[in-house]
Order: sequence, then structure tokens, then C-alpha cells
Amino acid sequence: MTKINIQGLEWDKKSSFQQGPAKAPTLIRKALYSDSMNLYSENGISIENEGVTDKGDFKIDDYFDIEDITQNHLASGAKLLSFGGDHSVTFPIIKAFHQHYPKLDILHIDAHADLYHDYEGDPYSHACPFARIMEKGFAVNLVQVGIRTLNSHQAEQATKFGVEIHEMRNLDLTKIPKFDNPLYISLDMDGFDPAYAPGVSHHEPGGLSSRQVINLIQNIEATVVGADIVEYNPDRDVNDMTAYLAAKMTKELLAKMMIK
Ligand code: MN
Ligand code: MN
Repeated sequence: MTKINIQGLEWDKKSSFQQGPAKAPTLIRKALYSDSMNLYSENGISIENEGVTDKGDFKIDDYFDIEDITQNHLASGAKLLSFGGDHSVTFPIIKAFHQHYPKLDILHIDAHADLYHDYEGDPYSHACPFARIMEKGFAVNLVQVGIRTLNSHQAEQATKFGVEIHEMRNLDLTKIPKFDNPLYISLDMDGFDPAYAPGVSHHEPGGLSSRQVINLIQNIEATVVGADIVEYNPDRDVNDMTAYLAAKMTKELLAKMMIK
């Protein structure tokens, strides 16, 4: 049986606009285990099985501790799902994954490309993780979906790093490539339209529907070895809508990791 660990990351100090994602893990868990939904993914797999180990939530004080925590949870050869935190968490997570998966592809779902060389002077801002990942060579292929805020600097960065961007303005989900290498999925909750996920710091209308993202994940044929769900900001949520969507995506991502 596939072994998968879950880690919650309480961290939002690299948010540029509003903090809040440090509170996400507790509320995603609360939604996931509430009596409102069962623990089955749509393909009939229960995430409550002996392969899945929840390592709990980690309050992060030092950004670079995220790499060590992640390393601990990968050391047993398990796959890993992380939730909570702003998007800056993905760089130290991928740094740890690189030790285990020297050839890794990344599918990144987001309203933003997060490719800034630095943001307001900080190279580790939540606006920068994919610039750091690509300049270190931690991903063979980076494919971004849902982008709708591309400026000239980030377009140049994308060209420089060879990033494949599927922007919202001309999105065709049948054009998403098949991945050959082990795949990591990074899901920024603001990739969804704010109508589906109001609990994010950066409302960017014109985004993906819940159904589109679920189908995108369900249609992946590659082996998914890790994933994160980031940027859920409970302070901005409405009736826990975004918590429930993050919980739903937790189930779908875990189920995808379990079957292959
Ligand atoms: Mn992001
Ligand atoms: Mn974003």
C-alpha cells in the first residue's frame, strides 16, 4: 500500500499583502473531519486507511525549518501532502523533495506565476518560490495553470526558465501535457475563482471552477509523489466555503497519490 504522510504548516510571514494562512491547517482538518462530508474521494477511495499517516501541524518560526520538517516526513520513502501556509512554503518543500526525486515535474495551479526574482526585496516572498525552484534546477518541467496576472517581468522569467504557462484567458485543459517524471502538484487556492474560494488574500476574478481543478487532477496519468494546498486565508473566508474546498482537494489529491 502506498505510504503517504500529511503535514500542516502554520506559516504566513512571507505573505506580501495579508497574513492568515498560518491558521489554515486547523480549519482544513476541521472541515475534513466534520460530519458534513465523508472521507471518500470521488473515485471511491477512503483517505482513512493504514497507508495515510497524519503527522499533525507544525508552527514554523524559521522559514528554513520547513525543509527539515519536510525532509523528516519524506525520509521513510513516503509521499507527502502539505497544507497551510502562504506559497513561500513550496520552495523549501521542493528543496527537500529534490533529495529524493532529482527529476521532478511540477504542476502549479494559481492565479499568479509566483516567478518574481524578488518581491519588495525579499527573494523568499510568496511571490517568488518558482523563481527559486527553477534557478536551482529543482524541477525538470514546470507547468502553470490558471494564471491571470502575468506582467512583463514574470513573462521574462517564465521564458528564461522555460516555464509552460496555461493562462486563464485562453485556457484549454486538454492541452495540459502528460508528465513523464514523478509529479508534484502545488495548489494555490487563489487559482480558483474567488466565487468558489473567497478565503484567499488575493481575490483575482476570472479563475478556475472547482470542477475544472478536480477534473484536471483526476485526469493526471503521472505518478504524483507530493502536493501542497496553500494560501487559504481563513480571515477572508465566507461560511467556511474555502475550508471545505481545501478539504475536498485534500481528499482528491490523496486519492490520486494512492492509486499510482
Ligand atoms: Mn501562489
Ligand atoms: Mn496566487
